Amino acid sequence: MRSRWGGFWERKMAAPGLWPGMGRLLEMPAALRRVSRPYSTFQAFAEVLRLPKQQLTKLVFPLQDLERQLVPESKSELHLKIFDPSLEEIARAESIFTATARNRIEYLSSAERLDHAPDLPRPEVCFIGRSNVGKSSLIKALFSLAPEVEVRVSKKPGHTKKMNFFKVGKYLTLVDMPGYGYRAPEDFVDMVETYLKERRNLMRTFLLVDSVVGIQKTDNIAIEMCEEFALPYVMVLTKIDKSSKGHLLKQVLQIQKFVDTNTQGCFPQLFPVSAVTYSGIHLLRCFIANITGNLKTDGIQFS
Ligand code: GDP
Repeated sequence: MRSRWGGFWERKMAAPGLWPGMGRLLEMPAALRRVSRPYSTFQAFAEVLRLPKQQLTKLVFPLQDLERQLVPESKSELHLKIFDPSLEEIARAESIFTATARNRIEYLSSAERLDHAPDLPRPEVCFIGRSNVGKSSLIKALFSLAPEVEVRVSKKPGHTKKMNFFKVGKYLTLVDMPGYGYRAPEDFVDMVETYLKERRNLMRTFLLVDSVVGIQKTDNIAIEMCEEFALPYVMVLTKIDKSSKGHLLKQVLQIQKFVDTNTQGCFPQLFPVSAVTYSGIHLLRCFIANITGNLKTDGIQFS
């Protein structure tokens, strides 16, 4: 079915003191062991917690790490305290993304059109981005605590691109949308635009931007589309391990300025990530858990 909106893409293409809570977290193993048996995420996260403070910040809170490079009067330019969970809260989110006998994390099905999509009751999040932005790598990194999950990649030209649905226990569904290129596939309009506009349980769209090159023309179109459809969305900056700190900071500040001045539906805080170093991955898992209503963090609950 052709989108009622006439196809957005078609039109556009034509045109702490020190770490509060950490002590308590390290004292929790007995209670936590009950939550996750086969893989102990908490053990894994406890390893993260043993890192020297600077390394831990870089891995878990990459924006904070970047902020340290800024002169004091520029620090407020990065809105890094809007979603600012404690390390305990981040550890709790890890359990949601950890495969266990009781918490099944698995690929469910693929669909070419919304009316072929599985009818799932759980809150849903989706990931969109240009081809090659690092979407598959990011989704693999998010599922690293469920190593059995196969993130399907269909990149061969001519192959039909599909939406891939993944179940994350009883908590949420994660949807991997086909990547858009300079020339979005024709069916993209029917598939992606219809999904974004009509999927009732879609809680948040994660729009990926390559931090090395910044916002490109097709990213701009995707941003305009999210704005026009009044979707709540979040910008995730991929491949942050590839640039020098200076270049990354410049890009992040530029993108932040763009978000502040040109967007309404975009979450004001950026999420920089690396699928290679895992920087930002724990925080992103925690954010997903929070916005799907599965993890209350102190203070504000985002919905
Ligand atoms: P997709 O087309 O958006 O799914 O992109 P892929 O996940 O396949 O990644 C495209 C290319 O970028 C591949 O060569 C990846 O190895 C590389 N890549 C993806 N994420 C990262 C990252 O975080 N860091 C680095 N250095 N390379 C990455």
